[in-house]
Amino acid sequence: MTVPIQHVLVIGGGFSGMATAIQCAKLGLAVDLVEIDQGWRSYGAGISIGGPTLRALRSIGVLDAFLERGHGGDGVDLFTAGGHPIGTLPTPRVAGDDVPGGGAIMRPVLADILAKATRAAGVRVRLGCTFSQIEQREGQVQVAFTDGTQGSYDLVVGADGLYSQVREAVFPDAPKPRYTGQGVWRAVVPRLADIVCATMWLGHKVKAGVNPVSQEQMYLFVTEDRPTNEHIDPSAWPRMLSDLLAPFDVPLLQSLRAQLGPQSQCNYRPLESLLLPQPWFNSRVVLVGDAVHATTPHMAAGAGIGLEDAIVLADELGRSATVEGALQAFQTRRWERCRMVVEHSGRLGDIEIADGDKAEHTRIMRETHMRLAQPI
Ligand SMILES: Cc1cc2nc3c(=O)[nH]c(=O)nc-3n(C[C@H](O)[C@H](O)[C@H](O)COP(=O)(O)OP(=O)(O)OC[C@H]3O[C@@H](n4cnc5c(N)ncnc54)[C@H](O)[C@@H]3O)c2cc1C
Repeated sequence: MTVPIQHVLVIGGGFSGMATAIQCAKLGLAVDLVEIDQGWRSYGAGISIGGPTLRALRSIGVLDAFLERGHGGDGVDLFTAGGHPIGTLPTPRVAGDDVPGGGAIMRPVLADILAKATRAAGVRVRLGCTFSQIEQREGQVQVAFTDGTQGSYDLVVGADGLYSQVREAVFPDAPKPRYTGQGVWRAVVPRLADIVCATMWLGHKVKAGVNPVSQEQMYLFVTEDRPTNEHIDPSAWPRMLSDLLAPFDVPLLQSLRAQLGPQSQCNYRPLESLLLPQPWFNSRVVLVGDAVHATTPHMAAGAGIGLEDAIVLADELGRSATVEGALQAFQTRRWERCRMVVEHSGRLGDIEIADGDKAEHTRIMRETHMRLAQPI
């Protein structure tokens, strides 16, 4: 440990914030984490992850828990909307020969795994709490909290997601999140024995898929284009999801459609993205995860690049002589990779909306997978 720091504050207890807290605690730093949600909740949808994310989970030390409570599988099976096989996209075993090339898990389960690891690492977690003021002076960050307390930190990490308040406070001129013109529908359904990996049906502008999240369950996802980002009443979600599946002439999807109901945890999310231009830090306040690079889920890599931020940030804090040097090195190592994920995912969405060039779509996906497999 070369950087002369002791106290770190992480603001936001999502995947990126928890991973950052764990990795900083491993350096022997005293880490506080504040999370605005009193219940530390994560909404109940599945999340698909690739080999690079599994590699990150292995570095953080929670891969075994993931494989026990989630699901690991190789490849992505692709079909037409009529059920005719297109092929299988290979998913290289990036995390090691003994670890599948991809997988999926329920968000609350992954959040629970990381929350347990955060507490086990000795991180001081405060729930229902956030900052009310951040001020930098004399090499320290003075923070006032909403519970009336105050703290002085050597480093503050903003991991508070797409609508980051830390970003607002530190980079008031930062761009705002952009609605990309697509929305994603998800539901949780009983797992079918012959679904062993991510499986997708590519319709005209609408894409449907399933991915196992455990021995018993899989999640269903549908991407559609929706020109405006209007509010959709949750009571309409099951019916609207069912309507989107109607054109798919696939017995499996029609059977799932018939089962959709209040127990299916149907969920709709408009897709938004944001890439903060450099710098990603201001003196001793740095941003990680969706707070700085929020991607659409086309590459299923958003969570993974947030986890990687945590690993690289701690790595640089452990080897640089100054905080500024560590943050500069962090930003340099992360910029190109995260830019690529955000921009390539955005381009994939644009091609889908325009019903554009399928060859370009495939080429971007393949190229992004190959680049993500490189060491971080
Ligand atoms: C529809 C959809 C599907 C997706 N699917 C996938 C997928 O399949 N695979 C994948 O890898 N990625 C996927 N992603 C992306 C992925 O969900 C995100 O990249 C990831 O969750 C980002 O984690 P984060 O911790 O940076 O931010 P968040 O998950 O947003 O966490 C931020 C945390 O900070 C807390 N917080 C907010 N404000 C404050 C505050 N002021 N003070 C304190 N705490 C605060 C929040 O309560 C939350 O706990 C998807 C995204 C969307 C929208």
